[in-house]
Amino acid sequence: MPEEYSKYLQSLNDRQREAACTDISTPLMIVAGPGSGKTSTMVGRILVLLNEGISPSNILAMTFTTAAAAEMRSRIAAVAGKATAKEITISTFHSFSLQLCRTHAEKLDRTSEFLIYGQGQQRKAVIESIRLLENGKSRQKDGALLNGEMSTTVTTPQKDKAKKWQKFVTQAKALGRTSAKYCELGNKIGAEILENYNNILKSCNAFDYHDLISCSVKLLTDFPDVFKESQVTWKAIVIDEFQDTSAMQYTLLRILASHHKITIVGDDDQSIFGFNGADISGFTSFRNDFPNYKEVRLNKNYRSTRCIVQAASSLIQNNTNRCQLKDIITDNSSGSKIIIKECHNEDAQCAFVVDKILEISSNYSASNCSYGNIAILYRRQISGKAFQLAFRERKIPFNIHGVAFYRKKVVRTIIAMLRTSLPDCDDLPYRRVFKALLPFEKDQKKRVIDHVDKISTIRKCSFISAATDIFNAKISGTFKRSQLTHGRKVLMTLEVILKLIHREKSISAVINSVVNMIPEKYLLEQRAVIDVDGGTLLNEDCDIRSVRQYLLDDVSQFLSSNLLVEKGEREVLPEEKGCISTLKAFIDYLSERERENFRARRKENENSVTLTTIHQAKGLEWDVVFIIKANEYEIPLLYDFSGTVNETRASVEEERRLLYVAMTRARQNLFILYVMMDSKWQMLQPSRFLKEIPLHLIEIQGELNLQELQVKNEVHQKEIAQFSGDLRTKMQQSKDVVSVPDYEVNNDANEASNELIDIAEASNGSDFLRRFLSLM
Ligand code: ATP
Ligand code: MG
Repeated sequence: MPEEYSKYLQSLNDRQREAACTDISTPLMIVAGPGSGKTSTMVGRILVLLNEGISPSNILAMTFTTAAAAEMRSRIAAVAGKATAKEITISTFHSFSLQLCRTHAEKLDRTSEFLIYGQGQQRKAVIESIRLLENGKSRQKDGALLNGEMSTTVTTPQKDKAKKWQKFVTQAKALGRTSAKYCELGNKIGAEILENYNNILKSCNAFDYHDLISCSVKLLTDFPDVFKESQVTWKAIVIDEFQDTSAMQYTLLRILASHHKITIVGDDDQSIFGFNGADISGFTSFRNDFPNYKEVRLNKNYRSTRCIVQAASSLIQNNTNRCQLKDIITDNSSGSKIIIKECHNEDAQCAFVVDKILEISSNYSASNCSYGNIAILYRRQISGKAFQLAFRERKIPFNIHGVAFYRKKVVRTIIAMLRTSLPDCDDLPYRRVFKALLPFEKDQKKRVIDHVDKISTIRKCSFISAATDIFNAKISGTFKRSQLTHGRKVLMTLEVILKLIHREKSISAVINSVVNMIPEKYLLEQRAVIDVDGGTLLNEDCDIRSVRQYLLDDVSQFLSSNLLVEKGEREVLPEEKGCISTLKAFIDYLSERERENFRARRKENENSVTLTTIHQAKGLEWDVVFIIKANEYEIPLLYDFSGTVNETRASVEEERRLLYVAMTRARQNLFILYVMMDSKWQMLQPSRFLKEIPLHLIEIQGELNLQELQVKNEVHQKEIAQFSGDLRTKMQQSKDVVSVPDYEVNNDANEASNELIDIAEASNGSDFLRRFLSLM
């Protein structure tokens, strides 16, 4: 055995080593709490597999987030070297299935260029399925219906209906149910909608996310050659964070691991992807499907102070649905108490955290990677927003996991512009490009695009061929000459991109040109959203050159830091294979990112504070962790995207597990903060879970007494009422106020405060509000 390998295995404790060194033909299950070295043991297991002669290219390691995959690769690289780590396939379920489906696309009635429909496109396909059902016509299977038809305007009741059916379709896919199954169950409408939906996706050469896993299962079960090939390629399989596997994902694993060389690692207490179909009954299925399995339990936490370990254990003991009760111990020192901090509002919360970070980082003395040891965790993306501004003001470097950079409109436009150059491009990217690049007002733009849609429907042709005929005046229409000229300009832009893609070797050069093709007017409109995270703040006076430059920097940085730089470790962008394949790989990569709502760490930001959702923090660790907005209706969130409250024992328990995951990310110091008032001056309650942490382990800063909080609430309401009484007079004193709305003074305090916020926002944001409040 290479010396590095044996050194690594020696560094493990007895139980970890026993697990890692188990005979490689024995199915292995490692169950343990957070920080007990599961991932470390799994790395040891991979070393043993390598040592037993399994080639790195025959090892498949599955995990749940790209961050976790990167973490695992770097741990392996540290022992086995970069080259070996690069050869091992370390993948998320999504990217693994995507790859498999692309390779065998023709068996699934698609071409290898198939698209992956996100939420928006899925919704459009659902609307179309409903329309077909209502029109009483079944969809033609020859794909005669064009994408263009899916864009027809929908009314609000239709939207509600679409939402409902979208949920239905998603559930059906997660459960692996076919339309025949719904027919059997007597749900004829459901069966027909699902059938229409599937046919639409088929004729558009598309899949949605759920299809990828079920299609992979289908490939492995219905096509013996695919199965055989998988057995030859994947001689050993390891899975981290097993508790988050859905039933369908488990089926995929079971088939892949028909040779029984499988290692699963997990902790049922950290199962937090229930909304995605995660199902901890996978542990039971594993025991049944691999009866000669060996189970190893680890119980020593190496990560956190005793105080944090005990607090987290006490919290999780309140869950009744736990399948493996674990008694976690640690030899670590007890460390400082957990600080629970009450903050007046989000601004105060932000100020506290910023001050604390500056204080802590100054204590890291000579070490220059102080900020990299700190993370701020939140339940919802939005809670991280305020920190970005504060960090910029105080010059604290930060990186964000989770801001969907490519979700910014302008970035989507750039991607759509690139996409139009790919063969089989559907109508949506074209429509987006026209929408962005035509220099008209909104109404006029809509009229033009609707007209193109109409012609494409009548002629049963694609959006782009209708547009080409219209703007080249091959069809007589109602457009003015200037409209035709601008339409032609967009067509020319698309032609230039197509040529560039075929001529240029590097995708970065193409992107550079594409950014320069975006009209000034559009960039200025998008200025506010271009700058969402990191970098310079784009203010009102900044000129178009800097907007363009900023965007370019950001896009290239995104590309190079997340894709090209990774090339050495993982071939995300096969740049040497030419622009088209690079672009395809890039788009697949984005789709994976999109699913995870994840933004990888920027390379130069290693010494920066991490801002991330709890879901994306899984498996990672920091010295100092701040859990912010630990309030009711945050953790636990307990309402779904439509705003419906959904409080069941299971949903509360899943939220408790989420807080458990968050707390156990900390090595040394843990801060849990909650706020008393939201931006609309509504009173908020601290999370019910805070009461479950034993008092002797915490130091409370501020009040945690609910009764007192209620009294405070009343006092605040009075204050607000008084404030609203004085509002008109005060506002008139302020020079900034142009017009004061006419509303009844003395009415409901909340209404008054809401109104004030509206005014403040309308008159250019919180700066005004601050100045105004300082008058009080
Ligand atoms: P999670 O459930 O959060 O994913 P985990 O069980 O995978 O946690 P690891 O991330 O593998 O835990 O390990 C947690 C920390 O403990 C790491 O910093 C790791 O280096 C350290 N560690 C693990 N095993 C040992 C050991 N035997 N001796 C010393 N440190 C260890
Ligand atoms: Mg782990």
